[in-house]
Amino acid sequence: AKASGKRQWRRFQPQQRARVMERHDLQARLNRAIADEEFTLCYQPVVDITTGDVVGFEALARWPSLGNEPVPPGQFIPLAEETGHISALGTWVLHHATADIARLQHSARRTRPPYLSVNVSARQWRDTGFLNEVCRALDTAALCRGTLQLELTESVLMQRTEQIDTLIRELKDLGVRIAVDDFGTGYSSLRYLRDFPIDVLKIDKTFIDDIPQDPRQVALVEGIIHLADTLGLQVIAEGIETQEQWELLADIGCGYGQGYLFARPMTVEQSGAVLQQRGGV
Ligand code: C2E
Ligand code: CA
Ligand code: CA
Ligand code: CA
Repeated sequence: AKASGKRQWRRFQPQQRARVMERHDLQARLNRAIADEEFTLCYQPVVDITTGDVVGFEALARWPSLGNEPVPPGQFIPLAEETGHISALGTWVLHHATADIARLQHSARRTRPPYLSVNVSARQWRDTGFLNEVCRALDTAALCRGTLQLELTESVLMQRTEQIDTLIRELKDLGVRIAVDDFGTGYSSLRYLRDFPIDVLKIDKTFIDDIPQDPRQVALVEGIIHLADTLGLQVIAEGIETQEQWELLADIGCGYGQGYLFARPMTVEQSGAVLQQRGGV
């Protein structure tokens, strides 16, 4: 009764103040959570659109926070970006995800080991220690060569700087693949596709949502796939939820997909099981 009384009291605070307090609170909790490594990782399968076989996994951070509602990444990632904590969190993700997937690769023994895709924030792409962290993670985890993919958003590629140019080239020399996440939502300039050695485009869910009903949306997705083909890039459609979306994407030649229709983000143990069932050869 006391606890609910407390909540009641908070409801009567002026809204603005409550929001500031909440943010403050969350920030303090986030600081502690990063220090205490309270995070976990889950993995969402990426499938071959033609066969439905699992080809890789995207690592997604989770903050289970004891006694509180789990905070969604859409909330804590931007906060960690603002406060600069994203570098520490990102390093943690990189090391844990490479270790998890390396273990999966070695126990599953596929002729084609599944790859790992890791989200990397704009801030991390500017960190001078980032390349070294990637090298360290690859060495320590013994991930199969050529099976790490790093995701960036279009904003990272908007200005072509010496630093990002060199970083991407050095990563490519290590066998790391570069994927543009949320493709089509960031900036209208496509010049970066010419300037940077990108490997993969991940078509944002908002483009997939209205297919096949909306012919304009279908035309857009077809256009992206055609562009990618011409440039020799792979395409992953994000957020596939229906059979109709899957079939249409297969018809128009989309290579890969990800979405609740195939699998939700899951634990590494569940990922191992999915790989046994749907890992292809
Ligand atoms: P994202 O990188 O675009 O990841 C895809 C998001 O869409 C994930 O949400 C995933 O659970 C969700 N999703 C996948 N398939 C479907 C579907 O069929 N339907 C719907 N409605 N959703 C689907 P999640 O895990 O909540 O992550 C949200 C965002 O937080 C990510 O978007 C990414 O930008 C960021 N994030 C998550 N983990 C990390 C991380 O380790 N580092 C960084 N920098 N960002 C991360
Ligand atoms: Ca992503
Ligand atoms: Ca995305
Ligand atoms: Ca997104």
